[in-house]
Amino acid sequence: MTFISTNPATGETVWEGEAATPAAAASAVETARAAFPDWADRPRQDRIDAMKRYQAALKSRAPAMAEAISRETGKALWETTAELGSMAGKVDISIRAYDERTGERTAQTAFGSATLRHRPHGVAAVLGPFNFPGHLPNGHIVPALLAGDTVVFKPSEETPHTGQLMAECLAEADLPKGVFNLVQGGRDTGAALLDQPIDALMFTGSGAAGAHFRRKFADNPHVILALELGGNNPLVVWDAADVEAVAGIIVQSAFVTTGQRCSCARRLIVPEGPQGDAILDAVIGLAHRLIFAPWDQTPVPYAGPLISARAADQALGAVNDRINAGAGVLLAPGTIDNLNSAFVHPAIIDVTGIAVPDEEMFAPFLSVTRVPTFEAAIVAANATRYGLSAGLISDDPKNWDRFIRRIRAGVVNFNRPTTGAAGDMPFGGLGDSGNHRPSAWYAADYCAYPVASFEAEAVRNIEGEMRGLR
Ligand code: NAD
Repeated sequence: MTFISTNPATGETVWEGEAATPAAAASAVETARAAFPDWADRPRQDRIDAMKRYQAALKSRAPAMAEAISRETGKALWETTAELGSMAGKVDISIRAYDERTGERTAQTAFGSATLRHRPHGVAAVLGPFNFPGHLPNGHIVPALLAGDTVVFKPSEETPHTGQLMAECLAEADLPKGVFNLVQGGRDTGAALLDQPIDALMFTGSGAAGAHFRRKFADNPHVILALELGGNNPLVVWDAADVEAVAGIIVQSAFVTTGQRCSCARRLIVPEGPQGDAILDAVIGLAHRLIFAPWDQTPVPYAGPLISARAADQALGAVNDRINAGAGVLLAPGTIDNLNSAFVHPAIIDVTGIAVPDEEMFAPFLSVTRVPTFEAAIVAANATRYGLSAGLISDDPKNWDRFIRRIRAGVVNFNRPTTGAAGDMPFGGLGDSGNHRPSAWYAADYCAYPVASFEAEAVRNIEGEMRGLR
């Protein structure tokens, strides 16, 4: 079946191709399986060299690839340029992370030695999301290949062109046949891939899909799952005097990448009364100044459209449902004049006292809750089944001390946007945001399993160690 990928800002086709059939998905897994033993047994330096060649290909194609990702996702060029930088940087980070978290160590013992080694799992299926279509699957693929796993990658159906360009860079790296395999397609192709005998699923995407995979693999404990999912992330402001500075951190948390980051703040928790009012006024003022426009427009846009008109329609439906349920409108949702219907501008609603679904709105829509005390703020922040990112903005370090001990999330930031993250730190969430297998620095952990060995060089009689002999 043919499918196409379009530029969400213009509707132009950017890629057209065939979705893999179930037979093609099966064949990709077979090919990856056949390549696994040799790849796993190679000296580690071979795999490092291959990833360095991939890194060189990424660097040489970076400007063109950044433009291609902007065209396919609508994201601003400054952002896709940074994405390419992260992709190339992932190689060095993953080499260091492998050594630190999953390398080898030996200790001498009375009988010989105790050695810890790590072995790759086998064939890893990698399913990627659309929002960082290069960086996020790359964050599974690079550590998996370094560890000795072979990979079958299915990019998001919204971003097949990005997936193809990554595959071209990996082809330039001259990997042995079958070590890396690309299948294109939508959820059906993903489902067909996961029906094959894989050893690992490395997934970044929605909470709903992650929940489905947890159930699907419940009786397959030998398939390692690394699930990097969505969030309904809280940002608390308490005892912070500089409202303009506060507004900057809130706006960046909620609206960067048009709200299409898993770590974006979705829920803003502020004090009742004039302090909260002043913060909200400053946020609304700054939100009006953000430029949402096509990626190649001058002046440089802050962000682009949502991934599609359909996504915009769904997100506007979700925020309007909340308004119809009684949420107050602080900044009304809507599309942007003279741009196509994938473009939406920020919306801010007040949901204090309203029962709203604990769902991620993957759009620049922020829900405000007003609370009387800092304790109530922490309780409100934790009132979610997710637990990906969270933030506190405050002048008082005592508030931070309390917050960091009480909040339940995998990324918890202080006076910095909730989206702050780094490749040399773990990135993952609690509850419905994941399955306790964080990625980034800790990706090495799910790419290989530990083997503990107690070794004596020769066969020696151990009767001296045995008790209770006649
Ligand atoms: P998605 O779950 O719709 O799709 C992700 C990938 O999984 C796609 O390749 C898709 O084809 C595939 N897929 C989805 N359902 C499937 C099924 N039932 N069977 C087989 N394959 C299936 O996610 P998306 O809309 O592309 O990405 C946005 C989501 O990803 C948001 O929820 C966001 O919060 C989350 N996300 C999480 C992180 C993280 O690191 N925690 C990072 C980025 C994005």
